[in-house]
Amino acid sequence: MFKQAKWSEPLVFELGAPGRIGVALPEIDEEIKNLVGEVKIPSSIKRTTPPQLPELSEVEVVRHFTNLTQMSYGVDNGPVPLGSCTMKYNPRIAWEIAFDPRITELHPLQDEKTVQGLLELMYELQRWLANIVGMDVCTLHPAAGAHGELAGVLTIKKYHEVKGQLDKKTEIIIPDSAHGTNPASAAMAGFKVIEVPTGLDGNVDMEALKSIVGDSTAGLMITNPSTLGLFEEHILEIAELFHNYDALLYYDGANLNGIMGYTRPGDMGFDIAHINIHKTFSSPHGGGGPGAGPICIKDRLVDRDRNIWLRDLIPGYVVVYDEKERVYKLRGLGPYSVGLLKSFFANTVPLVWAYVYILMMGPQGLRRVTEHAVLVTNYFAKLVSEIRGFEIPYGKSRFRKHEVVVSARPMSNEVGVTAEDIAKGLLDAGFYAPTIYFPLIVKEALQTEFTETETPENIDKYVARLREISEVAYKNSLEPKNWPINTSVGRVNMAKANNPKYLTPTWRVYLKRLRGELE
Ligand SMILES: *Cc1c(COP(=O)(O)O)cnc(C)c1O
Repeated sequence: MFKQAKWSEPLVFELGAPGRIGVALPEIDEEIKNLVGEVKIPSSIKRTTPPQLPELSEVEVVRHFTNLTQMSYGVDNGPVPLGSCTMKYNPRIAWEIAFDPRITELHPLQDEKTVQGLLELMYELQRWLANIVGMDVCTLHPAAGAHGELAGVLTIKKYHEVKGQLDKKTEIIIPDSAHGTNPASAAMAGFKVIEVPTGLDGNVDMEALKSIVGDSTAGLMITNPSTLGLFEEHILEIAELFHNYDALLYYDGANLNGIMGYTRPGDMGFDIAHINIHKTFSSPHGGGGPGAGPICIKDRLVDRDRNIWLRDLIPGYVVVYDEKERVYKLRGLGPYSVGLLKSFFANTVPLVWAYVYILMMGPQGLRRVTEHAVLVTNYFAKLVSEIRGFEIPYGKSRFRKHEVVVSARPMSNEVGVTAEDIAKGLLDAGFYAPTIYFPLIVKEALQTEFTETETPENIDKYVARLREISEVAYKNSLEPKNWPINTSVGRVNMAKANNPKYLTPTWRVYLKRLRGELE
């Protein structure tokens, strides 16, 4: 029986007392003082009153955060089968290495000669990633998947700009099953987004696609396997169609768990791909924490007269090896580059994590990751499709890759129990819920992805809970409406939770709410 801890934990600002401290800093050496000299801060930017920071002892801090973690749930507690989000376990050895002070204490402005070890690691990672996705050049620069998308779409824009055809190339085509970040990135880059529907077999509707592609098409953004977990069977034909109009193919490679070691975007005809380091390659993520979204390109000549290649257009830096001087260097930001999209080189720590993961796995291991992930998905899909109230729409008889989208539409239609109720029923038993109501083309969607790290026993337990939920729903359809009751936080008001008006992102806003100055 699951019951989550519930502490009435105050904010860290409400704990402690003036003058209480948790660290003992050493006196600054005379030697260092002499070295640095006296630091003069201009009076115009000096505070007149000290900042109001919480003052706590070490044990207060430790207890505060321990209590908070007990009211939460993560992949260290059990499966997090969030479809699309790929939450796999982060091996502890990768933590050890990524947090080695020889990495964490480097400064981004250090001379390249003093960070050769890290640059070598990045160089290798670029090479491995290029290999995994079948591309020629990678930059580790972008800080997340969506950021990689923007980097990629800006590269497409630059491509048409350099060729002097940007005024004509104004549209990016995106399937209706796409992750929401795809149309957002394309729109941010200034393109008009054209949506193409998905056929009942789960492939892009080819007739519809052919009627949309034309001279104004700048590119395609697609994820393959799609967010339905289905491999696009016409991808080679699609690539040819777009290339005939001099449009580029962008691969949303957030989730490579369904194809790694078996096929590569480069071999499917894609020109640019981003990779979510924090999904496929196990760097931790969630809560908007640091990730990395490298992009890789298949190099091609863009302008013969000026000898401009696609690699000259990508944003950020690339680590290169200088054979003559035998040193690693950062190369980038030539006259045709999209430019810098973030400060410094890249989000280093998640990249080290990914490096360790790939190194540990090796090529055979990465293939087995795919095999396990796909096997687990189809095992789950088979079991869940037999439970009353669930169905698997689109390409019913097709094998899924890294994920499967289950629909609770029959249950919702028959007894009014929805995907949201089912998700709460899972939380109530100590499981994490799948991604719900996405992709938008599936009614009552439960998008589920277990990844290679989950055992068959875990899948069986998960399915058993779904069976229990179905039984309750058909016996007493009102009961699920009260779930969850065993979690530290009960059912939240979804409309309110999604309304920015009610956000409390800072302590100042929180205080305003306490004083009744906000609604
Ligand atoms: C997660 C995801 C993204 C966005 O990645 P972030 O790192 O969250 O910005 C894009 N596309 C797909 C298919 C994804 O699953």
